[in-house]
Amino acid sequence: MALRAGRLRAGGDDGRIIAGVSGGPETTAGGAGPELAGRTVVVVSPHFDDVPLSLGQSLLTGALSQAAAVRVKVVFGRTNWSVRLYPTRRRAPLVTGWRRAEETLAARRFGYRFEVAPFEEVILRTGSTDAESYRGDHEARDDALFLPVMQRLRQWRREGDELWVPAGLGRHLDHRIVAAAAAQVVGDGDGTGPVAFYEDRPYASFLDDAELVGQIGRLGLELEPVDVSGPIAPSTQEAVRRCYRSQIDGYFEAAQQRDLDEGRPERIWRPVPRP
Ligand SMILES: [Zn+2]
Repeated sequence: MALRAGRLRAGGDDGRIIAGVSGGPETTAGGAGPELAGRTVVVVSPHFDDVPLSLGQSLLTGALSQAAAVRVKVVFGRTNWSVRLYPTRRRAPLVTGWRRAEETLAARRFGYRFEVAPFEEVILRTGSTDAESYRGDHEARDDALFLPVMQRLRQWRREGDELWVPAGLGRHLDHRIVAAAAAQVVGDGDGTGPVAFYEDRPYASFLDDAELVGQIGRLGLELEPVDVSGPIAPSTQEAVRRCYRSQIDGYFEAAQQRDLDEGRPERIWRPVPRP
């Protein structure tokens, strides 16, 4: 079952979950949602691949397709992770080059420009492929990269009219670092544009509504969901698979199948306007 915007909120000052609060009008499918005509949207991608995976439909036919420009910022631009090669440190230059080439292809296909920051992704910096080291419960705010990433977000926010960041769904540490840093930046009262949190795929595809709201609630913000595309189309999913051959495995394919089966759209979560 897909949630409808305006029916659900997550968060609050004490991090509690406020679900089922009735709100504004529901958005409609087919690319409705935020009005982005004439606006430049800066979209933060923890890794190469996260933006087309999470917002590919929006880029092709949804809200982001209406934006004047989409600028993608890849945070953890040094990587040794692929589904094809064991991730040794020595392979990082090779795999980074490969993934950068995939992103170049995706940027052309999905219509954005991208820039890459030089942070190492978690498997490269820890040398561990143990799921506990990258999907565990470490506090993202305690990570050494939390402050440097926050600085980047502040800088990137000024480069566009809106800043879209991952919500950190699925517990991947790199995603949570970006999401937690962004949650700090939301309240900067210095006249920069709004911040919105997009649902991280493939992880979000495996969460039920309660889990999803619970994880969003950990950001400690009062947020509401807005559709930014119609249902994700098989052709969009195929384009993603073609662009990111180094990353696609059975987990990604199962996530795509779930999205198709449930007719899910892509969504962002925005701070609830104060009355
Ligand atoms: Zn990622």
